[in-house]
Amino acid sequence: MEEVPIISLLAYLVAAVLFIIGLMRMGTPKTARTGNIYAAIGMLIAIIVTLLLKEVLNYVGILIGMAIGGAIGGFFARKVQMTQMPQMVGIYNGFGGGASLLIALAVFFDLGQNMTLENSVTIVLTVLIGSITLSGSFIAFGKLQGFVSGRPITYPLQNIWNGIIFLAVLAGMVYLVAVPGNITVMLALVAVTLILGILLVIPIGGADMPVVISLLNSYSGIAGAAAGFVIGNMFLIISGALVGAAGFILTRSMCKAMNRSLGNVMFGAFGAVTATSGGGGAGADGDKSVREATQEDVGMLLGFAKSVIIVPGYGLATSQAQHLVAELGSMLEERGADVKYAIHPVAGRMPGHMNVLLAEANVPYDKLYDLDQVNNEFERADVAVVVGANDVVNPDANNMADSPLYGMPILNADKSKSVVVIKRSLSPGFAGVDNPLFYMDKTMMFFRDGKQAFVELIDEIKHMD
Ligand code: NAP
Repeated sequence: MEEVPIISLLAYLVAAVLFIIGLMRMGTPKTARTGNIYAAIGMLIAIIVTLLLKEVLNYVGILIGMAIGGAIGGFFARKVQMTQMPQMVGIYNGFGGGASLLIALAVFFDLGQNMTLENSVTIVLTVLIGSITLSGSFIAFGKLQGFVSGRPITYPLQNIWNGIIFLAVLAGMVYLVAVPGNITVMLALVAVTLILGILLVIPIGGADMPVVISLLNSYSGIAGAAAGFVIGNMFLIISGALVGAAGFILTRSMCKAMNRSLGNVMFGAFGAVTATSGGGGAGADGDKSVREATQEDVGMLLGFAKSVIIVPGYGLATSQAQHLVAELGSMLEERGADVKYAIHPVAGRMPGHMNVLLAEANVPYDKLYDLDQVNNEFERADVAVVVGANDVVNPDANNMADSPLYGMPILNADKSKSVVVIKRSLSPGFAGVDNPLFYMDKTMMFFRDGKQAFVELIDEIKHMD
């Protein structure tokens, strides 16, 4: 690693500390915005120090690149819908992996056969992780955006084929370390690792894509750290390691919240059986009936309730009903009700999805309750209002050993005195399974788009008394 002036080292240290403080602050919605600013300042310091440190050949080219990249990034960050955030993060991870791959290839072509063992090992590792991150992230993006089927795409002996391809990749890597500089083998390695990235992600169902994106985020960090070793940049190593660790911790917490192992997510083709079995879909069973409620029914129930727990899910995000939900919550409080919001860790389609939406609607943080804090409260609640949530309130997760959701911790909305479910139909949620909560005697189904439902309920409560 090259000699770095002490002042630059100190600046890197400051930037790294800002990253760590930023990550810590991103742990709760209250401090997340400032956390983001801390991390952005850290990155700015790191970029300036790196540009001053290196023998930069062409500042104009770099500044033009930064301006174009910044403009494209800024445009999409503003334009993207909240529900499309996972695929946006996915594509950014892909570019991160791609950038590390290009750095490794640039150094490979630059050094030719004059490589040390350290050079060749770090280059092949960066190529492996960078390529898998690049192609895997684009497939994850395609699945979430609907360009590629969200269903798990499986074929016989899939994991064995992947294992064989992985062994071929390992052989190529060992060859390039033993005989550095062979361009044909390097290009073949890039091609095969790109294919491996695609093959690893296509068998995973769309429902699991946020977990995969979080894992690929971790990979992009590791690829960045490996690229840091390739070019001898200490800050790239530190920041890559932080991204790698943070992505992995998030991946683990998401798997834990779904009660599934990472191996099951990656190789279990979750959703393939339920998606094709036909009988699992809600409403498929003609014997069961639901109690359909009117605007007046739900208005009366809420208007006289003393304690209400609102359970938001993915439908809250798609209908963008968060502002109206917050408005109704305040109206109920003015009528003397205690109103809580129950947040499941994997409600919606990305970690923190519900927190972000409710924060946008200015719901105070102290009214948001995690699963562990709120689950004992349902028994005492007069009404649980489930808005656009499905899997995260499915009692089969507690009771039915053959349910794909079995073992996932859920919000016990079924324990409250009465339940109102707001959704458009009896369609299943992401896991593709029926929900017995809808058929319980205490449950009222209010079949509406989320936003429309709250427009009607606010109107109903306004005209009460
Ligand atoms: P869900 O089980 O996917 O159900 C969402 C429900 O929202 C659907 O049943 C749908 O029913 C309803 N809906 C959709 N659009 C609506 C609209 N405009 N108005 C009203 N309702 C609408 O959602 P969830 O309960 O939030 O559970 C999340 C699922 O995603 C879990 O299975 C979780 O494991 C998975 N997942 C989440 C993450 C994460 O990070 N959050 C990561 C990986 C996987 P209708 O079509 O009938 O309206």
